[in-house]
Amino acid sequence: MSNKKILVLPGDGIGNEVMHEVLNIIDWLSKTRSMSFDISERLVGGTAYDKEGDSISDETMQEALDSDAVLFGAVGGPKWDDVEREKRPEAALLRLRKELDLFANLRPAVVFDALADSSPLKLNIVKGLDILILRELTSGVYFGQPRGISKVNDSEEKAIDTQSYTTSEVSRITRVAFDLARLRNNKVTSVEKSNVMETGMFWKKIVSHLHQNEFQDVELNHMLADNCAMQLVRNPKQFDVILTDNLFGDLLSDIAAMLTGSLGMLPSASLGPLSENGSRSAMYEPVHGSAPDIAGEGKANPLAMIMSFAMMLKYSFNMIEDSNLIEKAVQSVLSLGLRTSDISDGANKVVSTQDMGKAVIEELKKLTGN
Ligand code: NAD
Repeated sequence: MSNKKILVLPGDGIGNEVMHEVLNIIDWLSKTRSMSFDISERLVGGTAYDKEGDSISDETMQEALDSDAVLFGAVGGPKWDDVEREKRPEAALLRLRKELDLFANLRPAVVFDALADSSPLKLNIVKGLDILILRELTSGVYFGQPRGISKVNDSEEKAIDTQSYTTSEVSRITRVAFDLARLRNNKVTSVEKSNVMETGMFWKKIVSHLHQNEFQDVELNHMLADNCAMQLVRNPKQFDVILTDNLFGDLLSDIAAMLTGSLGMLPSASLGPLSENGSRSAMYEPVHGSAPDIAGEGKANPLAMIMSFAMMLKYSFNMIEDSNLIEKAVQSVLSLGLRTSDISDGANKVVSTQDMGKAVIEELKKLTGN
């Protein structure tokens, strides 16, 4: 069987630093766990703009299309603030999402026991939290037509955004939600505004229909988006998989993110459609940006990037055991009291990006006896 192809795009700022730690882990895994990947690394973002004249070259885009999965660091920074819009670092991210058709955005919100104190919510509300927000990423109000600002008369203008979804767009994200729930606690909460929006009623109807016909073994609840925002803060542990559209997913995933306490701990995955051979395009990236304020100082927390790689093992390569192993190693490191400065409460040992990466490998060694 040929090796899986991973395209590594570290990007700008701390993207490079956190990716370096993942590459060390991949190196360790390939030596000790008889897994082997074909890794190629390319420029993206501002760094690519400086060296190649665009934030993502056509060659890099083609390589992403030819890869089994893309591992993405972060892009952007003040240096490129004045670059024209279509060549800005963030344009690379949008191009990747569009051309890989990454319609399903997975954002787990997991509270590690050792970090439960750093959540802004009370310990008993967040301790043990493990939920997954699944956001539709390529349609809805951010893409619907018509949109724009037009003149009504001399004193009045009008702005329009259009929330629009088709049957196939809702069906494909719903299938992903039910499939993911089967790998977790078998429960989906579908979130919309069916009380006041046509798209909400439409969304609810399609989700219910698919549930009835194909996924009756999974528990399904429907919830209005405003109630979901409240429930996420009141009792987040009632959820397993939250399925929602692009706009509500944008808001709800940020609420869920804050439950966990730190940006440096949040991984994400974006998946494309299933191909005939059963594979899907996929990109894995930490939720955080390039953090120009700490770039180059060795302060970045590499754990979100490391857990994004763990998601890649699980969702792209079905290497569940290895994925769980990495998550366990991260948990152990935190239990030992090691912290990068973003997650330190002053009482712990503050370590550098590199030392955190090394500590994860040390825990992997202990867990596997290698
Ligand atoms: P940011 O996520 O880069 O940083 C926000 C704050 O969190 C900063 O104080 C930063 O130091 C801290 N932080 C973030 N990640 C951290 C980590 N791993 N460890 C420790 N601390 C961490 O967001 P921002 O400051 O709004 O944006 C900076 C740049 O990143 C901008 O150019 C923005 O456009 C870009 N950005 C890129 C992505 C992406 O590539 N996916 C996402 C968000 C922002």
